[in-house]
Amino acid sequence: MQTHLSEAFVGTPQGETAQAILRKCVHCGFCTATCPTYQLLGNELDGPRGRIYLIKQVLEGDEATKRTQLHLDRCLTCRSCETTCPSGVEYGKLLDIGRAVVDREVPRTMVARLKRAALKLAVPNTKLVGVMLWFARSFKPLMPTNLAKKIPAYEPPKPWPSTQHSRRMIIHQGCIQRVAKPAINAAAARYLDANSISAVRTDDACCGALGLHMADHAFFERYAKRNIDAWWPEIEAGAEAIVSTASGCGVTIKDYGYLLEADPEYAHKAKRIADMTIDIAEVFNANAASQGKALYRKVAFQSPCTLQHGQKIVATVEQILHQHGVETTPVADAHLCCGSAGVYSLLQPKISMQLLDDKLSALQEHAPQCIVTANIGCLMHMESKADLPVRHWIEVVAPPE
Ligand code: SF4
Ligand code: SF4
Repeated sequence: MQTHLSEAFVGTPQGETAQAILRKCVHCGFCTATCPTYQLLGNELDGPRGRIYLIKQVLEGDEATKRTQLHLDRCLTCRSCETTCPSGVEYGKLLDIGRAVVDREVPRTMVARLKRAALKLAVPNTKLVGVMLWFARSFKPLMPTNLAKKIPAYEPPKPWPSTQHSRRMIIHQGCIQRVAKPAINAAAARYLDANSISAVRTDDACCGALGLHMADHAFFERYAKRNIDAWWPEIEAGAEAIVSTASGCGVTIKDYGYLLEADPEYAHKAKRIADMTIDIAEVFNANAASQGKALYRKVAFQSPCTLQHGQKIVATVEQILHQHGVETTPVADAHLCCGSAGVYSLLQPKISMQLLDDKLSALQEHAPQCIVTANIGCLMHMESKADLPVRHWIEVVAPPE
């Protein structure tokens, strides 16, 4: 695709990156066929190729409008289009640039700004999330069933194994997951322990993805740098990997190198951390070991977009489940998003719920005992409406407490 950037973007890092991405696109439209929002809304501008044109126009000097912003807002950032694209167009990076530029030019309403500010204040604050969940659970009996189902049941904090091994890996604890579902990281720690690897906890925090979803790079940088500072002493002391049990966080941390490459103080550390970050499924891919009896015999696996499209980890979790004697049921349209997509379910609830209904129908079709996933956002989103238990797959195969 030919591009003629406006003066404002020529020679800037954003402009150069966007131009290199745009030039790879040959407008073939293959990506459109696998885009969930295009499938639902049927509008070219709600598909990847249409959004690429919109971003290109703005970078070439056309005025960004509310309509431009709406079509970019409706994108799930699922990156299904990247998997389909034969030309290797890095749509996700382009969208981040496009959203930031459009948000600078098109002010949001006061209500939208307040909503976004509240999310950025609350989600990474684990103490506040804990208090909010406590209040929500207290009033659960008074809520209508569909609302009550959105409140996760209380899970007490779980102990982590204390055996010291010579091999050590840091587990990223993150924000919502450590409060709402502490059993996930405890299960990962038990699995590492059973493979003679110590799981290390640090004072880490939100991965920063929340800021990227809302075009707030300053927010992202604040949390990414906090994590780097928390992990660095352990890395210098010999920790061999950062392990993520939430694919949405893992995909973001794996991008720290790119996202902080212009920061003179953090670029080097960010690159090193990005290179040593792995999903929990990748640990066992390299260190396969069978542990105990699985919790369920037959599950449906929902492969999060951030796992299959973002991190390109495909079929690994299924293989691990099979190694443990767990059958996985067929899932139609497994490449499509469940509608969670970070804070998308709160900002675009209508599209999100349509996608959730479709996803749950596909997952529940062959009568599994449980739905398993690899990302906390998808887990809680599906749990809010599923007829079955929804768990992280590591909980199914980890040794018992
Ligand atoms: S599939 Fe790739 S090259 Fe084709 S239109 Fe989509 S982004 Fe462009
Ligand atoms: S990221 Fe997902 S929703 Fe957005 S354009 Fe690509 S396929 Fe469509």
